[in-house]
Amino acid sequence: MLTTDEGVILIDDKFERNVPEILEKVRAITPRPVRYMINTHHHGDHIGGNARLMESAEIIAHTNARANLVRNSMPGATRLAFNDAFELYLGGKRIQARHLGFGHANGDVVILFPQHRLLHTGDLFVRGTPFIDYASGGSSETWMKTLDRILELEFDTVIPGHGSISRREDIVRWKADFETVRRRVRELKRAGKSREEVARELKLDDLAGWSMTGLFAKSLPGLYDELAP
Ligand SMILES: [Zn+2]
Repeated sequence: MLTTDEGVILIDDKFERNVPEILEKVRAITPRPVRYMINTHHHGDHIGGNARLMESAEIIAHTNARANLVRNSMPGATRLAFNDAFELYLGGKRIQARHLGFGHANGDVVILFPQHRLLHTGDLFVRGTPFIDYASGGSSETWMKTLDRILELEFDTVIPGHGSISRREDIVRWKADFETVRRRVRELKRAGKSREEVARELKLDDLAGWSMTGLFAKSLPGLYDELAP
């Protein structure tokens, strides 16, 4: 959230049930209204409050994220959508939303707060194991390239899609771990292991925060298929 003299800008709005708590937190900090909200992507835990917030605020998402909402019959399809970059000026502050390629899904954006050298990554960077949404155009290959482009931006502090406030170096380390996992899956596949065997044998415990979460397990068949042996 960014507070300005002309109102508040929020990034993502969790599930619909979280809206009262989100607005309470805003009110604890400023009497000004939420003017804008940017969705980092289309997943339900990032857009669930859209329908309610849209009654009084303008919500912005990537064109593909908006299309995913419509295709999946999810509520809260935004009135505004953009493709590559979007700038917002409010109360003397400036923020930039950028789409730097596919990764977690096909409509991920990161939001840069240049005056604070701060970046909100959405789920393109999380503390822990990623979910690769292959059904919505996600891909580990393009994700790595997108992370390289993210690291070209000017920022020090990072708000991940899930997990605690981080630093630029944490993205560098996480990307290296992601590459390690990609290499290990490829090696297991080369050794003739099936999808099920890879799910059982893939070593993650030496990578900080990585584990076989439900969402990562869901990503594994796609990752297996994606990686050439
Ligand atoms: Zn997500």
